[in-house]
Amino acid sequence: MAAIPKSTGMQGGAMAEEAADELTLLAERHLVQPWPMSGSIGAEARGRIEGGEGIYVTDAAGRRLIDGPAGMWCVNAGHRRRELAEVMAAQAMELSYNSPWYTTNAPAALLSGRLAGHAPDGLDHVFYTTGGSSAVETALRFMQFANNVKGRGEKKLIVSRQGAYHGSTYLSASLNGRPRDQDWMDGAGEQVVKLTCPNPFRRPEGVAAVAFCDYLVAEFKDVIETVGAERIGAFVAEPVMASGGVIVPPDGYLRRIRELCRQNDILFIADEVVTAFGRLGHVFASQEVFGLDPDMITFAKGVTSGYFPLGGVMIAGRLLEELRRSNHSEAMFAHGLTYSSHPVGCAVALKNLDLLEDGLLEHARSISGHFQSSLKALEELPLVGEVRGMGLMACVECVADRVSNNPLTLDLEVGKRIDNHCQELGLLVRPLINMCVMSPPLTISTSQIDDMAAILRRGIELTMDDLV
Ligand code: PLP
Repeated sequence: MAAIPKSTGMQGGAMAEEAADELTLLAERHLVQPWPMSGSIGAEARGRIEGGEGIYVTDAAGRRLIDGPAGMWCVNAGHRRRELAEVMAAQAMELSYNSPWYTTNAPAALLSGRLAGHAPDGLDHVFYTTGGSSAVETALRFMQFANNVKGRGEKKLIVSRQGAYHGSTYLSASLNGRPRDQDWMDGAGEQVVKLTCPNPFRRPEGVAAVAFCDYLVAEFKDVIETVGAERIGAFVAEPVMASGGVIVPPDGYLRRIRELCRQNDILFIADEVVTAFGRLGHVFASQEVFGLDPDMITFAKGVTSGYFPLGGVMIAGRLLEELRRSNHSEAMFAHGLTYSSHPVGCAVALKNLDLLEDGLLEHARSISGHFQSSLKALEELPLVGEVRGMGLMACVECVADRVSNNPLTLDLEVGKRIDNHCQELGLLVRPLINMCVMSPPLTISTSQIDDMAAILRRGIELTMDDLV
């Protein structure tokens, strides 16, 4: 058996390099990475990140890279924030854990009050989870439970959209609709109906841009009529689809769908795992950006800026009140997690919220125009079909040719090629088949946005050279 180094943190020079090699080998031999391909599962060498500061991370070779995707849309306050690290240490020394089964703690109570103050009117309760998948899973199981208690056990179908991503637990993953999400995976498909992706750039053939919103709303109406409102429990949507390629839906789409949900007693669940905590310039984007009043909002990621795995569901108090008044006081919502309401997670979320309220939200709002226009300029490049986005999230979609806008074939791995070139030049991007997604830490400055856009432009130009 290979000798396993106990700690590599303090070593320098040749010793550090040796330890780094050892780490690569250990990971390759023993670590099963998330989202692996079966051809390399359990035997994959991924680039290792050693440190971070602000918008930058440092890789094992000592190269400093702009963290273009902020990890996975989550390091909103930036890397290496002393305030966040200190509050976690202080909370762990005060109370590192308490059982949420029959106790609570101060950070969870305080955070709940603060979040209720930011959420749309009426969403005044929070159920904490360990991340986004468990938040979506919780919202869906709550809908099922509530309908069972209300004596309408048939009303449990879930409506989602093609292109969506809602998580990796069984039920949340069943809502996903991106290429490859379900090719080899099982799921609860019989409980889900998927609508057309609201992507104006890839509308169904024959649908004009001005008619696209009507088309999408009519499709949902049709589904309600065909399936029956009495069988549909919830509609789930990311206000801006993130991992599907930063899809900003047509104006008015979300509000019109919300109205249909209200008319048919279908719960509207806004999955704000990405769009909350400043990504669109507000703590929650539903009401402030889209004029929406969902019945539930799921969140995670930016709530702790990725410093601690925490997520949750904002739930309308009215829904809880209905259960309290039901005839089934004996019915248990048999759902909870050992780490629900974790005191360290809630403490760091409170400090993160301070940072957002004390200038970071304002900064994100003020810088987003420059971010969007700098990336939009990449549409000059012949490989780029569209650059789209909102707030501090954007996507560069590459196409086979600019006349047809046909997608490139998967095997060209254009997103990965761009990422590889950009990494050489000092930028991490998130490749998604033919697309590159950018969602940097909200702390990014104007000149850092310029650096990021310049590297991305060069990365795309080099990729164009590869393809000739
Ligand atoms: N919902 C959305 C919109 C997401 O983008 C993600 C993750 O990227 C999730 C849910 C799942 O979150 P997690 O990976 O924290 O379980």
